[in-house]
Amino acid sequence: MSETESSTSEVGELSRRPGRERGRDDGKFGRYGGQYVPEALMPAIEELADAYERYVLGNEDGFMDEFRERLADFGGRPTPLQRADRLSERYDTEVYLKREDLLHGGAHKLNNALGQVLLAKYMGKERIIAETGAGQHGTATAMAAAHLDMPCTIYMGERDINRQRPNVFRMKLNGSEVKPVTTGRGTLKEAISETMRDWAETVEDTHYVIGSIVGPHPFPVMVRDFQAIISEEAREQAVEKTGGLPTDVVACAGGGSNTMGTFADFVDDESVALHAVEAGGSTLEVDEEAGVAPNSASLYTGEEGVLHGARTKLLQDSDGQIMESHSVSSGLDYAGVGPELAYLVDEGRVDPVAVGDDAALEGFHRLSNTEGIIPALETAHAFGYLEEHHEELGERVVVNVSGRGDKDLDAAIEETDKRDIDEAPDMSMFTEGM
Ligand SMILES: *Cc1c(COP(=O)(O)O)cnc(C)c1O
Repeated sequence: MSETESSTSEVGELSRRPGRERGRDDGKFGRYGGQYVPEALMPAIEELADAYERYVLGNEDGFMDEFRERLADFGGRPTPLQRADRLSERYDTEVYLKREDLLHGGAHKLNNALGQVLLAKYMGKERIIAETGAGQHGTATAMAAAHLDMPCTIYMGERDINRQRPNVFRMKLNGSEVKPVTTGRGTLKEAISETMRDWAETVEDTHYVIGSIVGPHPFPVMVRDFQAIISEEAREQAVEKTGGLPTDVVACAGGGSNTMGTFADFVDDESVALHAVEAGGSTLEVDEEAGVAPNSASLYTGEEGVLHGARTKLLQDSDGQIMESHSVSSGLDYAGVGPELAYLVDEGRVDPVAVGDDAALEGFHRLSNTEGIIPALETAHAFGYLEEHHEELGERVVVNVSGRGDKDLDAAIEETDKRDIDEAPDMSMFTEGM
């Protein structure tokens, strides 16, 4: 990077904030992270690490300036930090909501998808691939690819395609090709293998957009840096609105990208407690014999192992086989978690908590009827946590509203009908004849 190419603009400086140093050099977070990939992918990973250093950290050719400008104009940033008046009253503590549900697409995922598709352009790539389970990451990637005029292929398990028709339609509307994966159980795991295979054959002209702070280096640090805009804004907004830092920051965690994005600029503020809320599913007990964990609480209950290119905490049986996970929210349903979060949990910096399906459903209804905000089922876990643990929290809490609930309305009808939830509307008119 030469003096003339690098920008010393304010946005360039922002990407060098102290809370974001971890893992940048070698992708290691203590014992976690790394680059566990087949030989065929090493050149692609090395090229990407180099591009990350130049364009993201170095702001070469003004990459970060263009990224921030597009996040504002296309994405609608900054998102508000809103005081939740009635939740504040209910819990006798100041509750502030970081409104990522208002980002274009309805969730935080665009921050990363836009960053990576733009980076691919700067790298001279001509094609985007990604994989998706429930379809949220595929949708965000398809939007970003359409916006930046890049051809895009999304791999998706056949079973998931049948379950997620609106998201498949969204991707196609945005001009992406959706490739069904029919191997195995036809879900995310097989879709990831197919995308890896595609990438190994096409690295020269193709970039693989990974959707969370998972995978081999540089993905965990790069995705964190793209998502860190959440905490950058939230920290400034909190200081401006309340005169100080929050006592607690709460975010749900699947792979952990909205989580690390919300925590990043608070990690060095020792007074701020960080709570990562995982999906506790139906129970934290595992069925070793069946190879099933009826939850997705890898930070809370997981064991160290290697998955999708990185060493991290995983749901696995005593033979090291990855277990099938479960959550009422598809976006939290993942057997691993980002290596940086695994490290911060071991260091005692991040508090891992598990919230079950029932409490999440209650959180879903509570936020909807007290604040007029229908959250994604993933996000609803953070509000389940607030209800169960508000007495342990300090006087000023920031909760990340990672996404809106429109995508989850069918699931919410079905799941609400199975339960007896105080805050829920009378469900009979919605469920009769189902
Ligand atoms: C995908 C998703 C998540 C989980 O992903 P992370 O990488 O853990 O942030 C959480 N909330 C919403 C709304 C999502 O779409």
